[in-house]
Order: sequence, then C-alpha cells, then structure tokens
Amino acid sequence: MKQRQIDIEQLQEQFRQFLRRKMYRNTQERFRVLERAAEFDRHFTADELYVYMNTSGDKISRATVYSTLDLLTQCNILVKHRFQGDSATYELAARKPNHDHLICRDCGYMIEFQESALLALQDEIARRYGLQAVSHSLQIFASCGDSATCQRRRESSFTTDHDT
Ligand SMILES: [Zn+2]
Ligand SMILES: [Zn+2]
Repeated sequence: MKQRQIDIEQLQEQFRQFLRRKMYRNTQERFRVLERAAEFDRHFTADELYVYMNTSGDKISRATVYSTLDLLTQCNILVKHRFQGDSATYELAARKPNHDHLICRDCGYMIEFQESALLALQDEIARRYGLQAVSHSLQIFASCGDSATCQRRRESSFTTDHDT
C-alpha cells in the first residue's frame, strides 16, 4: 500500500483551530512537535519522538513532547494505541485510514491490516442499535507461530509495520 500524502498544512490548521477552541496557547513548540510527528510513517512512542527531535536539532523538553502528543490525540490528528503493558504508541490518523492491528503478546511484533469485512461489520453493528458508525479500533492479540522466530523478534525488539 502506498503511503498517503500527508497534508501538513491541513493538520496545522486543524491543530490551530483546536487550540483556539480550547483556549490553549498556540506555541511554536507545539507546532514543531506536530511537524516532527508527521515525519513518522509508522508507529512511534513519545520517547522516540523526544530523542528524534533532540538529536536533530530541536531543543525541546520531554514534558512538552508528552503534553503535545496528548493534545494532538485529543484533536484526532494522532491515534494513540496501548497494545500491551508497555508504553503507548502513536500514529498519524491520516497515515493509513481504517487499519487494525495484529500483535504478538510475547515479542511485540505487529502487523497492520485492512479488512473490508470489518468495515461492513462496523456499519452493520452500529445500524442495528440505531447509530451511525464513524470508526473502530480492533486489536488482535496473538503469538508468533514459531517460537524461534518470536525469540529473534524479541531480541531485536523491533516494531515493524507490515502492509498486507
Ligand atoms: Zn497502525
Ligand atoms: Zn512473537
């Protein structure tokens, strides 16, 4: 699947409107966090973004990164996932609409998949109760079929996004 073109100006405008509506301050740092977060074409943690920013020239505090990620999640620019006990990961909502996640509980290996049957099901379930579906979030927890592979994945502790 091709990467979606991220329209950064549209995201900035969305963020600006959100901050105005909530009467939050419209700081340069917050917008810098948005720009940098939008460069990730994958899931990332708050710490990864913090390290990325500080090693590429942005002097920014961890607290600012965390609080801005929170705001970006509130205004639906980012989606926040908590797959297992460990720290939350984020991804840009516009990056890959309507995908779900399959995660190995042991090593954290993750696959992103799109399944049109789930979209139909989401609509049908909502309609059944007289509502209109907007989105859904599904996480399938699993374990790698092969324990040696799982072990290797755990050692390299990667999280890779796979297209289906
Ligand atoms: Zn994802
Ligand atoms: Zn595994």
